[in-house]
Amino acid sequence: MPNALFITGTDTDVGKTATAVAILRQLVEAGIVCRAYKPVASGVVPGLSDPEQLWQAAGCPGLLAEVCPQVFHAAIAPEQAARAEGRRVDERLLRQGIVPHLASDLIVVEGAGGLFSPLGPGTLNADLARDFGLPVVVVDAARLGLIGRTLATVTAARAVGLTVAAIVISETAAMRANGPPDRPESPAATAAASLDDLRRHLPELPIGWLGYRADKIAPAINWRSLAAPVQQA
Ligand SMILES: [Mg+2]
Repeated sequence: MPNALFITGTDTDVGKTATAVAILRQLVEAGIVCRAYKPVASGVVPGLSDPEQLWQAAGCPGLLAEVCPQVFHAAIAPEQAARAEGRRVDERLLRQGIVPHLASDLIVVEGAGGLFSPLGPGTLNADLARDFGLPVVVVDAARLGLIGRTLATVTAARAVGLTVAAIVISETAAMRANGPPDRPESPAATAAASLDDLRRHLPELPIGWLGYRADKIAPAINWRSLAAPVQQA
């Protein structure tokens, strides 16, 4: 079985896809044969959707449709988005959809929403990560409250038996727009101080920073060494 990582977040819209893309690019650059898997996506409209970004970052292996076998259009929770189209989330397919990707070295799985957001009627992101036996990468956005959100998610992940592999704090467009880092309360100064605080609270974990539209997570993290073999129920 190939190794894999499960990219999750403290909430929706915190930079999971940008993080997954940066991880995939780093691995592909190192010559590792990668696949991306998104078990379900909602809010998918024509254009550069999450599945398409992931597929491109992995070097377009296999079929785009295999990256995310369950796509819904409304930008709401998957089950609600499915219902709006008269469909259902296929819980079995959440688990089986990884099969086309098993002939690779490393699979980057991107969840939907936060760690405890539902993927389907009976499956939370945390449940799927646990069923696949995968370490989670916790992503949060570089905005006020990141220490609390990140510690809460890491603590909850461990409480349900998950291994936390690393943390990535992702800078959003909104933060950059808030101005230069010349004041202690500026977003950039706050983010730097928050990263230091997080490292003090979680000295055992690699903690990376992904700048707005940056290609690379800094400092570099050895993702391959953090990934674990996919388990299949
Ligand atoms: Mg995403």
